[in-house]
Amino acid sequence: MTTIHLGLDDTDSDDGMCTTYLTTLIIENLINEGIRLIDYPNLIRLNPNIPWRTRGNAALCIRVEANNPKKVFQIAKKIMIENSESRNNKANSGLVMLCKNKVPVDIVKFAEKCINKEIKMEEMRKLVKNKDIEYFGQGTKRGLIGALASIGNTLENDHTYELIAYRKNGNGERGVSLQSVIKIDKEKKYSLFSNIDYNSHRVLITPHGKDPILFALRGNNPEHLYKAMSELKLYEDVERFAIFRSNQGTNQHLNDKLDVSSLRTYDSGHIIGKMVGKPVVIKGGHVFIKIKNRKKIINCAVYAPTISLKNLARNLKAGDEIELGGGISRKSKKFGRILNVEYIKIIKLTDRSIKKNPLCKKCNKSMKSIGKNKGYRCIKCGSKSNKIRKIESNNEIENKLYLPVLSAQRHLIKPVDRYGKEQRNKKKLKGNWFKIFE
Ligand code: ATP
Repeated sequence: MTTIHLGLDDTDSDDGMCTTYLTTLIIENLINEGIRLIDYPNLIRLNPNIPWRTRGNAALCIRVEANNPKKVFQIAKKIMIENSESRNNKANSGLVMLCKNKVPVDIVKFAEKCINKEIKMEEMRKLVKNKDIEYFGQGTKRGLIGALASIGNTLENDHTYELIAYRKNGNGERGVSLQSVIKIDKEKKYSLFSNIDYNSHRVLITPHGKDPILFALRGNNPEHLYKAMSELKLYEDVERFAIFRSNQGTNQHLNDKLDVSSLRTYDSGHIIGKMVGKPVVIKGGHVFIKIKNRKKIINCAVYAPTISLKNLARNLKAGDEIELGGGISRKSKKFGRILNVEYIKIIKLTDRSIKKNPLCKKCNKSMKSIGKNKGYRCIKCGSKSNKIRKIESNNEIENKLYLPVLSAQRHLIKPVDRYGKEQRNKKKLKGNWFKIFE
């Protein structure tokens, strides 16, 4: 038996398809051939800052054991050709097959880079010229980058699960009862996350585009996802569902410290620095702040849809020490390179107290100054004091982590609910993880 890793990416467009669905078509065919998966299919989110993505920059990997790699490749290639949006010249699909028990270090390193940097086609081309690799690309073949990266990211560290259910023949709005989503979310029986954004009254488990997804539940435990699905009330038929193991909700793209002396376009990561000057609010409610790190000043943008994050950014003050997670944009004439902020962690706030004249203990009235360095006197009863009052005014900012409202969070961002629930133990593929309905 050979261990086979099949990576695929870039099969969809705004007009249809979804690489996760295409993956389930391949899984269906492999299972029909008696081929066994050795892990949940992996749904790997790659650097969310690169501009070529259709939606959430997802790539997929299926890991199987089989005797006939050629056959596995043929099945996957045929399904890609017949279903990918490359048929309509709207995608640049890539399929990579690695036949090796352990993923080689250079492919693991490539995957690590793909999560927080831009990868050039040349880097991918060098790696796929490997005796253990077979590959197939369509259009510009850019999809081979994500396909290879999905093989290299074996999710050894923190990971989550996503159950995706696909529609039988639905069109437009998804037939999922809002009340049932609210019930599951509020009961908190299952370790799910990012179901609803109560702030913007948005259900986050149902997409809005032309893709075949009916709903997608994210959580820490595959069995919980299955149970939660059975409690959802649906007004349309499910054609199939699959549970994926994923790096979503883990902050994997922000773990590395950004090197301020050599920031590059599309880098993702985090920076620690001190606020310089005042926040500037521009048209549309976006907030611009500057932070200083190792004598370098970095412009940072906190966008209006992040709501809670933007509200915090408006109240930051020069001297506040903060950690910012996010991605570097392309250089613009007006702002240069900007860090587009995905989270703000307050490390140390500067003194925000306001000095006031003392209050008279008897009359509870503010005292008047008698003269420079001479203290204060109550004009009503004549009592004296020289104790200045300090009124705390920190706009209720605390030394903690701040995230955007749920609907403005990227797939990879770790939601507040997941802190302390990180998991490294891979769950064995078992139970109800894949089904096609009649
Ligand atoms: P969906 O999430 O709906 O599947 P998508 O958002 O993943 O779509 P794709 O259509 O797959 O978007 O396009 C992303 C493209 O960017 C792919 O061709 C992928 O290979 C490539 N890519 C991904 N990460 C990087 C990176 N770090 N550097 C360069 N190219 C990348």
